[in-house]
Amino acid sequence: MDLDLSWALIGLPLAFVLGWMASRLDVRQLRFENRTQPKAYFKGLNHLLNEQQDQAIDAFIEAVQQDPDTSELHFALGNLFRRRGEFERAVRIHEHLLARADLNQDDRHRARHALALDFLKAGLLDRAEDNLRQLLGTPIENQALLALLTIHERSRDWAKATEVAERLGQRGEARFENRQAHYLCEQANTLPADQVQAQISLLEQACQVSPQSVRPHLALAELLDRQGQTAAALQLRLDLARTMPRFVPLLAREMTRLALLEGQTDTVRDLLERHASEAPSLDIMEALVQLDQAAGLSDVQARYASHMDKEPSVVAAHLWVRHEPLVHESHRAALERALERAAQPLKRYRCAACGFEAQRHFWQCPGCQAWDSYPPRRIEEL
Ligand SMILES: [Zn+2]
Repeated sequence: MDLDLSWALIGLPLAFVLGWMASRLDVRQLRFENRTQPKAYFKGLNHLLNEQQDQAIDAFIEAVQQDPDTSELHFALGNLFRRRGEFERAVRIHEHLLARADLNQDDRHRARHALALDFLKAGLLDRAEDNLRQLLGTPIENQALLALLTIHERSRDWAKATEVAERLGQRGEARFENRQAHYLCEQANTLPADQVQAQISLLEQACQVSPQSVRPHLALAELLDRQGQTAAALQLRLDLARTMPRFVPLLAREMTRLALLEGQTDTVRDLLERHASEAPSLDIMEALVQLDQAAGLSDVQARYASHMDKEPSVVAAHLWVRHEPLVHESHRAALERALERAAQPLKRYRCAACGFEAQRHFWQCPGCQAWDSYPPRRIEEL
């Protein structure tokens, strides 16, 4: 009994000391983890803020190795890989997240969305679409629909794009009528030239969906024009000029041609004169010169001079010089060449979103794919 008691006397303090040491060890371990993990995390964050993506990736890999259960770091790393164009690594991370049994439902949806974006960026549109369709009916349906819209636009599947835009519009998050009108116009463009009635019906539907969009009305006018219905085509353009005055420079040339055909030059001249005095435009100036010449007026110089009085314009100066006698005629060719070179880039149209320049006006920018990003005016007038 004495022996047992002495063991108890020694054992109890020993157990206490061992327990205390174990607890200290845990606390130290915890402190070590808490100290090292935020350090790697903040290091990564710091590199990100300094736009040093390679170093940020290294720091986040270190953080993920220290705590493989943290999903947020996996998301950060996956998104970084995608942004760097390392799609395979991004896909591996997001697939790994999806395979984890402990991931909650919201993070599972996020991971699937991220995976779809990896496939989208890698150009694997089918696989991206599959993953996005699995997100329909979930709380992130809107994000999935927006990404689906990008896929259908990129694959030029305008019927599917129209469907998705309609669904987004119904959800009321944003207005998609204008986009729907563009898709309907694109659908009409893809139809064979002899399916006139089907084209008209798509364009009329576009006008109905988005009455404030210029494009479907203009496309309808062009279609009627091609069908020889020039009076109706002119009337549509005149209506547009009244309801959408900003687009008159884009309408001016064809409106003038139709006015000459239909003998309605006075109406069009009045309209163009009014616009030219309110907001001078190179296209309107050219259209008025065309009307003057058709009426037998030879003094086109006055039009160019009047435009230059209102706006400093290299394009107008170039046109003016072509008809102006010079004291030193021998220098005409060199002068005209110099002015033409200076004027040429100023006659282009420029995307307001990405700066892409083009000889003609686009409804969707070929550079950045933005819709309605080209102002209806030439670069010189911006
Ligand atoms: Zn652009």
